[in-house]
Formats: sequence, structure tokens, C-alpha cells
Amino acid sequence: MTSLPALRSGKPRSEFGHVRPTRELEIPFAIIEGAEEGPCLLVTAGVHGSEFCSIEAAVRLMKTQPEEIKGTLIVLPILNVEAFHRRNIYIMPQDGKNLNRMFPGKPDGTTSEQLAHWLVSEVFPKADAYIDCHGGDLDEGLAPFTIFPAGCEKSQALAAAFGIKVAVAAGGSGYSVDASHKLGIPSILPEVSGNGLWGEATVRQMTDGIRRVMQHIGMLPGEAPVTELDVVTMWVPAAPVTGLWYPKKDLGEPVAMGELLGEIKTVFGETLATIHSEKTGFILYRLTSLSVNEKEALLGVGTSA
Ligand SMILES: [Zn+2]
Repeated sequence: MTSLPALRSGKPRSEFGHVRPTRELEIPFAIIEGAEEGPCLLVTAGVHGSEFCSIEAAVRLMKTQPEEIKGTLIVLPILNVEAFHRRNIYIMPQDGKNLNRMFPGKPDGTTSEQLAHWLVSEVFPKADAYIDCHGGDLDEGLAPFTIFPAGCEKSQALAAAFGIKVAVAAGGSGYSVDASHKLGIPSILPEVSGNGLWGEATVRQMTDGIRRVMQHIGMLPGEAPVTELDVVTMWVPAAPVTGLWYPKKDLGEPVAMGELLGEIKTVFGETLATIHSEKTGFILYRLTSLSVNEKEALLGVGTSA
């Protein structure tokens, strides 16, 4: 099966299975069809295969009962299955690429490009709204925030329903929710928990947020409270050199322009690089690994928009 099954059969149902976006990929899915017609919500997780909080939240979401909802819920709980099994960070092991930089993909590209293309052409067009669940990878600490495509009011409204106070207005392209936004689908990318941890409180923060979005789009009864968002942009310095990373700021800690954010040293303690903030704001996430490689993201500074 290279396509997902029909979203509406006319009968409430939970259908589980595997779909083959390419010859070499097989990914799990759930389709929950409600008794009444209504919106289609797409939820994906495991674009980064070791962000386990997002994956466990999606796994739990698959237990949503058809009787509970209007419309259809599509859940793809682990897009990057190989990375999940291998506990890889950032990349798809098949081609060494970060899937969340590959959108909208290519039909004849590498594995991650083909998967991105399949999502954009086969799956995104079915959805009325899209949530791509993420978190801090195994080597990243993170204070929760929601990314939305900058300038998209409907996406920002989803973020306000999801309920995390900090919302990052993201520009650029290549990432999942930008590609879906370009198809006219309101989309958010919540980032919850860090270091691959999947504690009960953070998994629930994710599932509760998704359920509020389901209320917001009319899939679940009740009205989602609207969170007043602190909308920021994110500045991400990359490591100029490979070495040992010594961050100087904690998650959520305010930083001033020019302030020291961290240092990269040799194993003998010689300083190779000092990282100073080019923004005034606060720390959204940071690399917690002592080991850093040239060009890797060191941290994110949120600056009020
Ligand atoms: Zn991620």
C-alpha cells in the first residue's frame, strides 16, 4: 500500500496499519474516523526518531475513540522509523539528511527527499490542519515552544489553542509545517520536552495541546481556551569549530546582546571559540552534549517580535 486508505468510509472506525511511501520505507499509521463528518486533522511525530515525547504522545493519540470525534484524525506516529530503532539524532540514517530540512522533497531524490515528497503530495492535501510534534533531541535541552509559519494567522491561532505561551514565528523553508502552510493548511510544530525524555507531564502537555487544537477546529466538543502568545523569532548560532561545548546560560534564562552564551574548547582546555549573543532575548533550547561538531546548532535565542 503506497497510499493511506480512504479517510471516510461512512462508518466510525479505527484503522491501523503500515503504508509504503517508497519501496524501502514502511511507516505505521492510524486513521480514526468519527461518526459525523467534520475536519481532517493530521498529526505526525518522529520526523526526528529520538524525540520520544512526541512519539509517545502520537502513540497515545491513536487510542482516540471514533465516537469521540467529528471528522477524521490521521496519525503517523513515527515517520523516521530507522532513526527510532537506531536511536539516531537529527537525521534519517538511510541518507544522512535531516528530514525537516528536505521539504517539499523530490519524487526521485534520496530517502528523506522521497518521504517529504510523499507527505506533501499524498498526505498534506487531505488535511484541514496539521500538527508536527517535536521536542529536544537526545542531545538538546528545551523549554517548550510552538513553531508556526511566520505571518500565517490561522497557524498562529492553532498555536494559541495548543496552549504553550512561547510561539516562534519561523521564516525560511524546507521544514514540514512551512510546506503544508504553502498548500494552505494551517500548521504548527510544537516542541515539548528535551534530551529525548518522555516523562508523564510532558507527554500529557503534548496530548492535551493536541486535544485543544481538536476542539479549536471543531473535531472535539467544547471550546479551547486561547493562550495569549509571546511571539518571538529565533536566532540559532552554529558552532564555528569542532570541540567541547561549555554553555553559560540555562534554559529560559534571559540574555543581553553581546553577552557570553558559551565557549568551545579543546580537550586540553584551550578556548577555540567564544559565542556571544547577537540578540536580546532568552534561551529556548541548547545543546547539552559536551561534544559539538562544526556547523551544528548550539542553541536558540528567542527575541520578542
Ligand atoms: Zn525535531
